Formats: sequence, C-alpha cells, structure tokens
Amino acid sequence: MVRINENYLKLPGSYLFSMIGKKVREYEAAHPEADVIRLGIGDVTQPIAPAVTDALHRAVDEMGKAETFRGYAPDLGYSFLRETMAREDFQTRGCDISPEEIFISDGAKCDCANIQEIFGTENRIAVCDPVYPVYVDSNVMAGRTGKFDPATGKYAGVIYMPCTGENGFVPDLPEEVPDLIYLCFPNNPTGAVMTKEQLQKWVDYANEHQALILYDAAYEAYISDPEVPHSIYECEGAKHCAIEFRSFSKTAGFTGLRLGCTVVPRDLRAGGEEVWPLWARRHGTKYNGAPYIIQRAGEAIYSAEGRSQIREQIAYYMRNAKIIRDGLLQAGYEACGGVNAPYIWLRTPGNMTSWEFFDRLLTEMNVVGTPGSGFGPSGEHYFRLTAFGDKERTMQAVERIRKGALG
Ligand code: PLP
Repeated sequence: MVRINENYLKLPGSYLFSMIGKKVREYEAAHPEADVIRLGIGDVTQPIAPAVTDALHRAVDEMGKAETFRGYAPDLGYSFLRETMAREDFQTRGCDISPEEIFISDGAKCDCANIQEIFGTENRIAVCDPVYPVYVDSNVMAGRTGKFDPATGKYAGVIYMPCTGENGFVPDLPEEVPDLIYLCFPNNPTGAVMTKEQLQKWVDYANEHQALILYDAAYEAYISDPEVPHSIYECEGAKHCAIEFRSFSKTAGFTGLRLGCTVVPRDLRAGGEEVWPLWARRHGTKYNGAPYIIQRAGEAIYSAEGRSQIREQIAYYMRNAKIIRDGLLQAGYEACGGVNAPYIWLRTPGNMTSWEFFDRLLTEMNVVGTPGSGFGPSGEHYFRLTAFGDKERTMQAVERIRKGALG
C-alpha cells in the first residue's frame, strides 16, 4: 500500500492568505459598493522595464533561427549571466565571489525551500519569528521538525528567534546552538535590516559553532543605507559559513518571469564535506536550467539603461513606502520598516490582535493588509502593509487610515 510522507500532515495548511482572500471576498459580496484597497499584496505591480522587454524580444528572435537556437540551458546557468552577476552584484562590493559559485535558478523561493535537502534531517534549524513561512514549511516536509502546536503557533524542534520592538526586529544570537540558521535581511515581513556590524556577529557566531547561515537577500535592491550590507559576503569569514539567495522578482519585477540565484562558495564545508558539489549534484539532477530568454532578460538589468529603469521602479515603490510610513507615524501608529525595504510593519493600536485589526481596517476603512500573527507568534499585535501598490491608491488608503483614528 502506498504511504504518503507523514510530515506533510504536520502542516496546518496555508491559512494566512486563504483566510485573507475569503474575508475580503465575503466583505465585497456583502458590500458591492465598497472600494477596497489592497495593501497586503506581496507582488510587484509595475510593468517590466523596457531594457528587459527589448532583451526578451531579441532572445525570442534568436530562438526562432536555426543558427542561434538554444536547447537545454546549462544546469547551473549561462556563463554570460553568472559572470555579470559575480562582477556586478559581488565583486564590485568587495565580495570575492566567482561566477562558478553562482547557481542560476528560477527564483529564490525554490532554492530556499530546496537547500535543506542537502543537509541531514538531524540538524536543528533556527528561524526568525516572524518569518517568511517557506523556511519552516520546507523543513517540516523534510521531517526536521516535530508537531505543530496551535496553542503556541510553533513546531516542536525549531529554534524560534523572536524579532520584536525590543530588539529592533533583529534577532539575538540564540542560546541553544542551531546547525542551520535562516536569516532574511532586508526582512519580510518586518522591513528591518542588519548593519554590517550586526551581521558580522552572526557570521562569527556561525563560524565559531560550525553552523551554517542561509541568507535570503531577496530585497537587497531596496537598501539605501550605506551601513547596511547587500550581501553576507561583505562580512569577513562568510565564505566559510554562508549560502546566499538572490531574486530578480522584487529587484526588477520578475515575479512572473522567474529568475534568481544561489551562491554556494567553494570554501564552504559542512561536517567536513564540501557543500558546492552537493548543491551542483542536486541542481543537475532535479533542475534543467532557467530559460535562455529569461537569463538574457536578467542580464539586461545590468546595462546602463536597465539599471536606471529598475532604479526608477524601486524608487516608485519606495515613495509609496514613505507615504505609508509617514502617514502611519503622523496618525500616531508605531511603525517601522519602509526605509530599506518595501514592507511597513506596524503595531496594532490598543493591543488589538492582528486579526481584529485586519477586520476593522477592512470593514471601517476598506483597506486590506496582512495580519502579523500569520508570520509567527511574535508577529501577534503587528500588521504588514506593502509598498507594491499604485501610488494614488496607496495615498487614498493612507488617508483613510489617518482619518479612521484607530491609531
Ligand atoms: N524570499 C523572501 C523573503 C520573499 O519574500 C520572497 C517572495 O515574496 C521570496 C524569497 C521569493 O522570491 P522568488 O520570487 O524569487 O521566488
């Protein structure tokens, strides 16, 4: 008889976004006249930059001619893209990363979910709380955790590192030493960042305890503060203890095109074994390469015009972030993020739960956001708004929140 992977039964189901969708649909059905503004959206809304669409058209034409047609892409990515990324994303920032250490993929989500499979199930993982749910769920599926406890909102066997107002949403070094440490900065959902000095402490800690940091830099393009590192490899010793994930999704609007990469340094060892050949083996076995046309599109964001166009897109979202953040602060809310990240994290007023605040925002102001408790127990009494919407709609939403006097 076929048996399923019992670990999947430990997952309580993807409650957060389905619950939000259900509540909004029900509200709109009951109030067809309501003009609901969605600031919960975690997807980009600006169109692809012209430099990127031009590159796509050129690559499509190449595919239509016998002399320039390409079949399977190299498993680890085309060298034109790996070389460009090594130079532009890492070497120009003083990080000693070579093209062969860059593995091209179709985005950061798959890589940060899949990376755990090259490590033993006995490893203990540590995650920030609140957290991007993929890190925990992928480890649950692999059997690296115990049961989910609905009373605490936690899985047994996982080290949760609270990120709250008290620690500025930057986790303290855990007392119980983990083996695999997931860090994401700029952070989704809190919008917090780590300075280089703060991140260096994590790198030193990982090297001291022979732990490995899985560093998600999906939002590095939103950093404006010069003290904030764009890559963990800006820290000394990181090549011995860290893997980094990059994404073109929020950097250049590729959520629908799909492109990202994972950096696995040649020097990295786990339990005495080299990690690079294991990830290369895994990638080669289970992945057949990101499409040629998409890799050419990715390369285009590094051209002079591509760069200036994506800079303008990011500036657009960050103007929205400022509108939200300033509006909330003026209305008396406690709010952070939105400076080096497209997410604004606010404390719910009057000690309301995240879901109580969601309901009031929806029904009284017709604005949708994301309840912080959906990202982990320490997200309770917090709420996430995103800067990915349209500017006019964002301004309207903030105006409603200001007038709504919940804060
Ligand atoms: N990592 C974080 C922290 C994210 O918030 C997201 C997307 O929302 C991803 C990774 C996924 O990126 P991609 O679209 O490249 O799969």
